[in-house]
Amino acid sequence: MADIALLEKSRDQILKKRPAYTDILNFYVRVFQAQEEIRRQIRIDPVSIDPSLLDKKLGHDMPLIDPDQFVMDQSASGRLLETLCDIAENRSDALSKAAVSLKSAMANSRINTETLFDAVLASDGETLSTLSGTIGITAGHLIMFAFLSMSPVIETGAGQLSVYLKDRSHDKGYCPVCGNYPDLFFLDDTGKRHLKCSFCSHCWEVGRMGCVICENNDPDTRQYFFSPEEKEYRVDVCEACRKYIKGVDTRHLDRAFFPKLELVATMHLDIKAGEAGYTSLSDFDPIKEETLS
Ligand SMILES: [Zn+2]
Ligand SMILES: [Zn+2]
Repeated sequence: MADIALLEKSRDQILKKRPAYTDILNFYVRVFQAQEEIRRQIRIDPVSIDPSLLDKKLGHDMPLIDPDQFVMDQSASGRLLETLCDIAENRSDALSKAAVSLKSAMANSRINTETLFDAVLASDGETLSTLSGTIGITAGHLIMFAFLSMSPVIETGAGQLSVYLKDRSHDKGYCPVCGNYPDLFFLDDTGKRHLKCSFCSHCWEVGRMGCVICENNDPDTRQYFFSPEEKEYRVDVCEACRKYIKGVDTRHLDRAFFPKLELVATMHLDIKAGEAGYTSLSDFDPIKEETLS
């Protein structure tokens, strides 16, 4: 997501059609800009994987690493966390209050960001709950701020690791780098289906048919929501596992494709899928849970 001018243009094009997203998209574009600035300063050594372990993992379609094996640049993520608090402070909602509390907890060393980032990587709910209690904000808000601060580092690490995959096909519903579930699929200009990891943002190609989670291939139990007003979006649902995943058909997109921007701009589809009784694939979805609360 390097080109900020293009990102802003895509945001403006979305807002012309759906002005209700103005506040939230403006907020996220500022977050994405801050993430880009930090991305250039990240210094991490690549994770190295022993050749025999690598063969085993690739041979069994196993992810290269567990999420807690991502190497952190504590300093870069710490600086980004402060910037994100500054950005959120200007809002007038629960997020702004959370940002003020979080900033003050960091300023007077009531929390250690290294402990926070490690707890997010390890999905250590107990530590996250203790930290959020110390700060006086919800665990959801804390995870959201932390994850947004860590994302550029995690994505840099995933980029380094992806060279191990050597363009191998991975026709599975979990990320070949870190094992997390996707939060979005997209169809490229030739109609091929790709999944985007909710955690490390690695993208991989999968077959066009079938549920990405339970691999159900029965066409009678696989459906999708589609609205003629939003030709670029689709929500695939599976009757067998009752999961859904949002998708973007880039062939119908009238703007540059920024997966994370489209994820935020399609929250109405999450609501629609939820009302119809489906749940998202990924448990890890701090943005959707907390931004509007
Ligand atoms: Zn991943
Ligand atoms: Zn399924």
